[in-house]
Amino acid sequence: MKVAKFGGSSVSNAEQIKKVLNIVNSDVDRKIIIVSAPGKRHSEDVKTTDLLIRLYEKVIDRLDYTSKKKEIIQRYADIIDELNMDYHLLTSIDETLESYIAILKDKPSRLLDALLSCGEDFNAQLIAEYNNSQGIPTRYVSPGEAGIQVTDLPQNAQILEQSYNTLYKLREYNEKLIIPGFFGVSRQNYIVTFPRGGSDITGAIVARGVRADLYENFTDVSGIFRANPTIVKNPEVIDEITYREMRELSYAGFGVFHDEALQPLHKDRIPVVIKNTNRPDDIGTYIRHDREINSNNIVSGISCDKGFTVLNIKKYLMNRQVGFTRKILAVLEDYGISFDHMPSGIDNISIIMRSKEIQNREEQVLNDIRKNCDVDELSVEHDLAILMIVGEGMHRIVGTANTITHALAESNINLKMMNQGASEISIMFGIHVSDADKAVKSTYEYCYNGICLKS
Ligand code: ASP
Repeated sequence: MKVAKFGGSSVSNAEQIKKVLNIVNSDVDRKIIIVSAPGKRHSEDVKTTDLLIRLYEKVIDRLDYTSKKKEIIQRYADIIDELNMDYHLLTSIDETLESYIAILKDKPSRLLDALLSCGEDFNAQLIAEYNNSQGIPTRYVSPGEAGIQVTDLPQNAQILEQSYNTLYKLREYNEKLIIPGFFGVSRQNYIVTFPRGGSDITGAIVARGVRADLYENFTDVSGIFRANPTIVKNPEVIDEITYREMRELSYAGFGVFHDEALQPLHKDRIPVVIKNTNRPDDIGTYIRHDREINSNNIVSGISCDKGFTVLNIKKYLMNRQVGFTRKILAVLEDYGISFDHMPSGIDNISIIMRSKEIQNREEQVLNDIRKNCDVDELSVEHDLAILMIVGEGMHRIVGTANTITHALAESNINLKMMNQGASEISIMFGIHVSDADKAVKSTYEYCYNGICLKS
């Protein structure tokens, strides 16, 4: 059995929905389908989810929200029109929006989640009804009915373990099932959404719940590129990648697949394939527990994420002081700041975090470190970018770091920091943000084409 998830651009209009249903109906194993809300139809368009946020803002500000509501209903009306469907769904869309607003207008975060869920929920109902009308037995199943029980944290839901037993029962249906992505129901009976882009997470949860043989994630590209295609011209598509590699790359900015979606899958080793709705015959990228390693794919991918801040701390004889690092980390913990890397020397330590973690409270954090930790020097640097070279093959092969540093040196890029964990799955380099694109280009050329880019 396969679980297939279709992203926003795949279900943004009638033509795309027809493509989706062709894919779904062409394979009997595609039993369970997860759909996103209608996404952008062209580059200037607005995603339905973002239209719902605008509606929410009007309601909360006690302003007239009629035009925002109409815009949302119009998105579905366009699809319904083009598919020659009955208009009754539009009445129920209007009623549902109004009833959420009436019931939850004094509970803003609850209202936001309820409205956000509508994007996928209405689309799932519409798609199920249309497929049925085409003679394919199809059933809409709400997340509550499917058994997607989640924690009660608005916009940040996490699946509750008991859901998996209930989800297994979805195997008993004979029809094709259409389930809206992006949200579940809490024990307190509220609709709670996953973080943005969370339909991938629903797909992963359902795939694990029904013990699917494959989780197909359909989007608008034919797989995952080895590097950002807006930086590197025509990068290779990765054919196979492991869960661990994917996690590292998604952390560092690869947005094709939500990093939280990997967690349910890797436990039961359910393979994922990223495929293109517009080119369904392209092979796509497989994400699995293990992969074949050869001399051409030692490095799986290269990414570079911007927007990091680093705290540089110096302390003479730091290596002899027991508990020094703990005191510094305790300050970060007090402020609820999570950090990402901590390269160190014998008398110095650098703590790297996303700038948004420390923004607006940098002075207080620095003062507390000075007060509590008896440091010799403390400085802060912004504009740091993190270059990540990710590849399971590196632990078996000698010389990858040499290749990368050589490529960076040839491009005249100054390395501020380097870090590699014992698993050797990735090497991280801290560089100045102005070198970010150049670093990706030069390491890509050197890793995959054996070409050195001289600056
Ligand atoms: N519609 C939601 C969003 O735009 C979830 C998703 O598409 O995965 O974030």
